[in-house]
Amino acid sequence: MKVGFIGLGTMGTHMAMNVRKAGFELVVNDLRREVAKPHLDAGATWADTAKALAQQSDVVFTSLPGPKEVEALALDPNGLLAGMSKGTAWFDLSTNSPTVVRRLHERFAAAGIAMLDAPVSGGPRGANTRKLALLIGGDQATFDRHKPVLDAIGDQPIYIGPIGAGSVAKLVHNCAGYAIQTVLAEVFTMGVKAGVEPLALWSAVRQCALGRARTFDRLADQFLQGKFEPPAFALKLAHKDVTLATELAREIGVPMRLASLVHAEMTEALARGWGHMDSRSPMLLQEERAGVKIEVPAEKIQAVLDRR
Ligand code: NAD
Repeated sequence: MKVGFIGLGTMGTHMAMNVRKAGFELVVNDLRREVAKPHLDAGATWADTAKALAQQSDVVFTSLPGPKEVEALALDPNGLLAGMSKGTAWFDLSTNSPTVVRRLHERFAAAGIAMLDAPVSGGPRGANTRKLALLIGGDQATFDRHKPVLDAIGDQPIYIGPIGAGSVAKLVHNCAGYAIQTVLAEVFTMGVKAGVEPLALWSAVRQCALGRARTFDRLADQFLQGKFEPPAFALKLAHKDVTLATELAREIGVPMRLASLVHAEMTEALARGWGHMDSRSPMLLQEERAGVKIEVPAEKIQAVLDRR
């Protein structure tokens, strides 16, 4: 089975590398040709356009910023629809709009091509180590047939339901994550301003009930260190996720009070010019409001993590 992979960014580069490591023949493409170098060194080949890549692939994966880029790449005269043949399959690994993937699914189905939404969760570290969930919506038989290559990308490829189901599940998950992050910034600034040293506060709460579900451990890499660059996940992409979740809610008539607040918080951070920084950077807004600065050295945090 020859695999085509488009979008060799923070996530895509690791996922494509794992496909190659599992022994699949691989052809790659990205807007930035230079990011393909490690893949070409590992035996992949380059295609100049999505169409050229699609023409030589049995299955295509895309890991692109969002709905706009995916739709353009799919329908462009030099894009996927123009190049893929009947009977082949396309899995979109991007975090995308359920409405857009359903629309694309219809267009591709009319040409005899299976389109599945397959957003992922686990961050760049998970994409690298394969500790990655793939949340898949679309035709189940196509999912089953491609299980070996999905297994190469992540240890948890999960079939969820018809087209769009993967994207809905992903938006539910990410929206929850950003709401939790916003409340954590609030309570931590309260704790620090009330006089408790940040590392002592964090070491304590991570052993409490929520802490033992490891809810607070995710603060270690960015918030606790006060280090938001380079991004593990860029704010501009996270903002897109919460935009998609709140748009979906409006489309189907669900009030989302907390998510709307979280969205405003992230929009304010974007307006500060922090789009390229990590998606945890909006937590800095709360530090400003509270008048506290949290900056714990990485080695002190690691020492606490090592104690378990
Ligand atoms: P990224 O910006 O690092 O990577 C996107 C890549 O797509 C870039 O290399 C870019 O050059 C390429 N690209 C953009 N338009 C293109 C086009 N028309 N043709 C070819 N290549 C094109 O983003 P990322 O962090 O790797 O995220 C990718 C997707 O995965 C996003 O939808 C994101 O929401 C999702 N995601 C990211 C993470 C994370 O932690 N980074 C986790 C889960 C899901």
